[in-house]
Amino acid sequence: MPATLAAASLVPEVDPLLQRLGVPRAAYMGGTLAARSPITGEVLAQVQQQSPADATAAIGRAHAAFQAWRNVPAPRRGELVRLLGEELRTAKADLGLLVTIEVGKISSEGLGEVQEMIDICDFAVGLSRQLYGLTIATERPGHRMMETWHPLGVCGVISAFNFPVAVWSWNAALALVCGDSVVWKPSEKTPLTALATHAIAQRAIARFNRETGSDAPEGLLELIVGQRDIGEVLVDDARVPVLSATGSTTMGRAVGPRLAARFARGILELGGNNAAIVAPSADLNLALRGIAFAAMGTAGQRCTTLRRLFVHESIYDQLVPQLVKVYTNVQVDDPRIAGTLVGPLIDRMAFDGMQKALEQGRALGATVHGGGRVEGLGGAGAYYVRPALVELQKHEGPALHETFAPILYVVRYSSIDEAIAMNNAVGAGLSSSIFTLNMREAELFMSAAGSDCGIANVNIGPSGAEIGGAFGGEKETGGGREAGSDSWKAYMRRATNTINYSTALPLAQGVTFDV
Ligand code: NAD
Repeated sequence: MPATLAAASLVPEVDPLLQRLGVPRAAYMGGTLAARSPITGEVLAQVQQQSPADATAAIGRAHAAFQAWRNVPAPRRGELVRLLGEELRTAKADLGLLVTIEVGKISSEGLGEVQEMIDICDFAVGLSRQLYGLTIATERPGHRMMETWHPLGVCGVISAFNFPVAVWSWNAALALVCGDSVVWKPSEKTPLTALATHAIAQRAIARFNRETGSDAPEGLLELIVGQRDIGEVLVDDARVPVLSATGSTTMGRAVGPRLAARFARGILELGGNNAAIVAPSADLNLALRGIAFAAMGTAGQRCTTLRRLFVHESIYDQLVPQLVKVYTNVQVDDPRIAGTLVGPLIDRMAFDGMQKALEQGRALGATVHGGGRVEGLGGAGAYYVRPALVELQKHEGPALHETFAPILYVVRYSSIDEAIAMNNAVGAGLSSSIFTLNMREAELFMSAAGSDCGIANVNIGPSGAEIGGAFGGEKETGGGREAGSDSWKAYMRRATNTINYSTALPLAQGVTFDV
């Protein structure tokens, strides 16, 4: 592809792409929500938005669907998710391209996001036969005690722009096998990928009905497109017992108390301010590659992006100049071009936020490498930047907060305890890593006295999680867990059952009550 690609309009490409993906034209023509591409900065389509009343109606349909879906046996529910995985495999190239166009991810990351959707479907299909409860020893003779997991209700999903489709699938694939219906409010910045995903899911439902003779209820998977006001409808509606909300900590601060006020379950997946420690024994070549991907991948717009790097003073002068070289040479360009590693920022707000943080760094006397706008790519509304490496004297100022852009703050440390203390000295608690060949340091980092994050890695960066593990973080990251391990339990309710098969009625704790 020519290097001038970003100069050509994407509009002629988008309509055929959406048609191939099965999105009805009425959904993205003549509406009031402008869908943009950060690659060119242009408006691609005018999407229809739903009103708060529409959102309430969608919740009503999903609630009715739940009443029927909860009675479908879980392995049969898994069959629908298996078909969803198949439809995603068929649509992978097109949906991956649409992710690239709407979010600006490089092609392999756009495709990787769809692969992640397929992976969670596979995981959920297996899970549909493994929603295990326990049998529990009881102190009463002639009794049996067990726990049973039941479907919970409508699962609301609010998602962020940077993983416009994978986050829905992490929730929806699990919620579906758990017997829940789903209402999804995607980011207002990424309506097209949401419409395409919804169309794919509807195809899976149609196949499920056709091929298995089932009748998946209408309203099982609802999509509501619009601004935060329709997200607030999901937050406040008593028919939504669990809400998975992914986005900034600011969003979580607004949503969390409202969920708590009505005793709803929140799966909060909020901001991260992730760090890596490079210890004296680290394999520096490996560390260099791990740092580069984690800090610059997705143009620094992953929740798990590496934002703070603590380098031991004995290797600082060896590692940091090499990093500066990588930062200087990395290819910033149209994300569809082979060789591009850093695509555009999502919008002007992201660019302004980045420049403000760099200014704050400079005011503290930091040495700033890169960080400026790359001119000549895309139109006036496209924001390409060179990733910034910021050498700070102390762990302070903008390093203490998440700026959703490719800025890596680098700070020296002298003892592992000091490095771990800095790792933990921020509000967010999502992801973290250490590069070391020293077993004691690695184990300390992962121990109770180590990293306080939901993810703690050794000899890989903090980003690029796979779906098999539980994903999420502590503190201001919200505490939610999604995807693998036992995350499914958040989408179900647990009943403890005690069964008396004797003719007596012994009471627990030695209580007597003879009438
Ligand atoms: P954002 O907070 O601006 O928006 C996220 C979503 O929340 C959008 O759909 C938005 O419409 C909705 N929203 C915002 N305020 C709301 C409210 N008061 N009530 C209901 N809905 C509301 O986030 P963004 O800019 O789209 O995404 C970037 C942020 O998301 C970063 O902070 C990033 O770290 C975080 N993120 C976290 C994870 C994770 O798993 N922890 C994953 C991806 C992104």
